Amino acid sequence: MKLIIHRGTKEIGGSCVELITAISRVLIDFGMPLVNKNRERFDPDVLKGKSVEELKKLFILPGIEGLYKDEKKSINAILISHSHLDHYGLLSYVHPDIPIYMSKGVKELIDITNLFVYRELKSLNFRVISSKESLAIGDFKIIHYLVDHSAFDALAFLVEAQGKRLFYSGDFRGHGRKSILFKQMIKNPPKNIDCLLMEGSMLGRNQQLYNNEEEIEERIVEILKESKTITFLFASSQNIDRLVSAYRACLKTDSIFVIDLYTAFILDKLNKISKGIPRFDWKNIRVKFLKYHADVLVKANLKELLYLYNKRKIDIDEINQKRDRILMLARDNSIFPIILKNISAVEDSKIIYSMWDGYLTEGFKDFCHEKGLVMESAHTSGHAELEDLKKFANALNPKKLIPIHTFEREKYPKLFENVQILEDREVLEL
Ligand SMILES: [Zn+2]
Repeated sequence: MKLIIHRGTKEIGGSCVELITAISRVLIDFGMPLVNKNRERFDPDVLKGKSVEELKKLFILPGIEGLYKDEKKSINAILISHSHLDHYGLLSYVHPDIPIYMSKGVKELIDITNLFVYRELKSLNFRVISSKESLAIGDFKIIHYLVDHSAFDALAFLVEAQGKRLFYSGDFRGHGRKSILFKQMIKNPPKNIDCLLMEGSMLGRNQQLYNNEEEIEERIVEILKESKTITFLFASSQNIDRLVSAYRACLKTDSIFVIDLYTAFILDKLNKISKGIPRFDWKNIRVKFLKYHADVLVKANLKELLYLYNKRKIDIDEINQKRDRILMLARDNSIFPIILKNISAVEDSKIIYSMWDGYLTEGFKDFCHEKGLVMESAHTSGHAELEDLKKFANALNPKKLIPIHTFEREKYPKLFENVQILEDREVLEL
């Protein structure tokens, strides 16, 4: 089996791995980069209006034969580990006949993102990996493992071919609401791993203020108990662990968790996969309608959902009346200042900033200062801390450990055993 990491040996984002035998080729992940070659934020607008050939010349699309539309297809399949754009965001360029495998939750979330936000993925050959069986693709056998990550239903993959076993960790952690998965993996790891591709997102980042979701939940409880006016939670609607933490905090303090239609739609869909995920009609949840979201649902012939969610609708008058009991999910977007304008007494209200602080702009900090909003960070990463990376590497005990999804690959040899550093596009025979 041959391995090529097309992108990901020295950066976070844009992961793409190719595995090759004499008769088959599969890709794992096909992500949008997060940084450009100067390590500045990657601007997705540079993709606009450019052909596959042009994007290959810019090294944005990897030069992989038989992958792209208008080519003769020769890639057998693509596996997608999870629903973050830096792992699937370039799929719109691939040949529409190539089967693209993912978990059910990942497919839901990619479809939802495509409906509301991204709108690039049309008529691709998505296939859901059934929960138990392994996949046979050409002469590859692929076994998937559910992992704990900030993206719902994320997978790691064990790929076997020609007597070799490669494990792709994907993005993972050991401190989320599914930490049991991490513990099980450590306790009962896959054996005889020839090669482990392991993420290392956290290696260059600071020690976290909050160790796990429970600590975040407790902090939200404290904030809600003290609050005398509305509290905002800035979090991704797709970070289900975080929404669960917020919801549980609302139950404990009898606060009302106000979500928007987009979030109600996500929770509704995912509740069908995992019954513990709170739904719009659960106690203490109310839905704020935004015109943009309503228009999307109407256009997608899902108008009946608006009638359904309408039962739990909350309008601005009610939000005002009950503002000292409200935790409202929001984000730094064009809608937030409009919402704020309609709520009285926002002075001293708190924004719980519950996302990676790399998203926080100076402009938004100034805006909050101007409005008298108090910002407090309460976040824990979607990625494993060093201690858990060590436990993971020790448990899998690979013959070769190759860094991926990290800006800090040169730290690996000091921290882990059997490390081999690869370059992007280098071919390794396992
Ligand atoms: Zn991720």
